[in-house]
Amino acid sequence: CGIVGYTGLHQASPILVSGLRRLEYRGYDSAGVAAVEDDRLEVRKRAGRVRALEELLDEMPLHARCGISHTRWATHGPASDRNAHPHLGGRGGRMTVALVHNGVIENHVALRRELEAEGFLFQSQTDTEVIAHLVARELEKADDPFLAVRRALPRLEGTYGLGVVCAGHPGVVVGARFGSPLVVGVGDSEHLLASDAVAIAPHTARVAYLQDGEVVRLTPQDFQIQHLEKGPITPRIDRIDWKP
Ligand code: GLU
Repeated sequence: CGIVGYTGLHQASPILVSGLRRLEYRGYDSAGVAAVEDDRLEVRKRAGRVRALEELLDEMPLHARCGISHTRWATHGPASDRNAHPHLGGRGGRMTVALVHNGVIENHVALRRELEAEGFLFQSQTDTEVIAHLVARELEKADDPFLAVRRALPRLEGTYGLGVVCAGHPGVVVGARFGSPLVVGVGDSEHLLASDAVAIAPHTARVAYLQDGEVVRLTPQDFQIQHLEKGPITPRIDRIDWKP
């Protein structure tokens, strides 16, 4: 339902959670955050209000300058801690990908069968989790999150707005859009990702809207967009006037 991503010089967790609060008006049933620092990928998530997630983060804080967050509106699998996003992808006890998703994956049953046969261990009942494992499988072949997401996406049938972070790639957030909105916030030595520009408003007025079929790679310094078929895209940066 709601997606926020951050990479920059500040602590990501408070920014990711306050971004979720700005998206609360859309309604949701669960909330979660993933952060990446060095090789460490950590997730905190809970069914219920953003307040419940904040209590969890008070008990078990996340220290990182890069991460993603999500408010879920369940379509596949009931509202539960396990079904909350982010979802982890990987196998053999090595989880390398954390992913948040808005939308619906129509062919998730077939993909789940294929991935389970290859040793990917599923932890939720969501349609989303197949995407995390597909990206993890690509990451095994080439340790490049931007490329791994681009190689995984053609397997999906359905709609998605995605946010992805990967172990061993601190400072990198990858986003992708097909049928579910996503916008980049352009700051000074920081970049944000969101499903609605309202989540970005406190941080910057400069935004770049993604189009269907586009994948973006954010770092603190810059961002690049590639279309799945057309290749590199020159982004157009708009200025949002937040005053009424
Ligand atoms: N289909 C996904 C799920 O049920 C994403 C739902 C959403 O857009 O929040 O987990």
